[in-house]
Amino acid sequence: MEQKTSAKILKGRPVAKEVREELRATIERGIARTGRAPGLAVVLVGDNPASQVYVRNKERAAAKLGIRTFDHRLPADVTQEALLDLVDRLNEDPAVQGVLIQLPLPPHINEEQVLYAVTPEKDVDVFHPDNFGKLALSVGTLRPCTPGGVLELLKRNDIEIDGKNVVIIGASKIVGLPLSLMFLYEGATVTLCHIKTSDVPALTQKADIVVAALGVPRFLKADMVREGAVVVDVGINRGEDGQIVGDCDFDDLIGKVSAITPVPGGVGPMTVAMLMVNTVQAYRHQVLGDLPSEELRMLE
Ligand code: NAD
Repeated sequence: MEQKTSAKILKGRPVAKEVREELRATIERGIARTGRAPGLAVVLVGDNPASQVYVRNKERAAAKLGIRTFDHRLPADVTQEALLDLVDRLNEDPAVQGVLIQLPLPPHINEEQVLYAVTPEKDVDVFHPDNFGKLALSVGTLRPCTPGGVLELLKRNDIEIDGKNVVIIGASKIVGLPLSLMFLYEGATVTLCHIKTSDVPALTQKADIVVAALGVPRFLKADMVREGAVVVDVGINRGEDGQIVGDCDFDDLIGKVSAITPVPGGVGPMTVAMLMVNTVQAYRHQVLGDLPSEELRMLE
């Protein structure tokens, strides 16, 4: 049987590279002028293999751009106090403009207390309530990495958002919730689904753009979307064989959608690129002084 393959594959790697390369001139000019490179502190607690991969990818991307990374690896049994002490030191360290705390943290750690201890200026993941509040009000802030990456990937593929119906499956504070706000400010009508949503397919079937960010392997199937929909797969799930699987059934959807992101190689690389953008924005603000805090926006 002939399979329809007219769908556009929204590949993240080339777009992420484009975004990263746009930062190079600012970094080089900044180093030439001040003698200081942007600095990103990366805190990894424990030995979760997936987290180790994410951290490595982020550090590699930073190194390629001339961003200095400060690696802090802590044992899984680190105390809350020790972690908060480290965050305090990083907040005070002038060589560091961005502080990244890789999630998840071990269960005995109060995650929110640690994340919210990062000074908002250095909060390149955009988890701090001050930054999230600014995002919610659209009054100028850094953009959270994964949601920012989703929007950038769509925009740079000329996918229209203004006036569209967007359904997001998954309402986490890291992905679905901030993404819903960002789509709203792009002029979309947004529906945010979560575990208590009674009929997800009834909603996704009406959407122009469906974002799957729920953490359930191959959840979204062709019968849940309308012909020609755009599908963004944020999911990163590891099968028992170690293979990475998204939240969308790519093979099932490909014949019905107009565009779809692959996993891996879709949203993942965009997340890393957006972290670089936020680090450079923080560097401009804290070191170069050419970005006042009220203008802490990206890619404008
Ligand atoms: P989470 O577990 O914090 O939140 C999941 C959300 O999905 C919740 O709101 C929950 O209510 C909802 N949900 C779960 N099952 C559902 C169902 N059957 N129907 C409707 N809603 C349901 O997850 P998260 O941290 O937001 O991550 C989601 C996925 O995205 C995971 O696979 C994660 O690995 C991936 N992720 C990818 C990136 C990236 O860079 N690509 C970044 C962050 C997270």
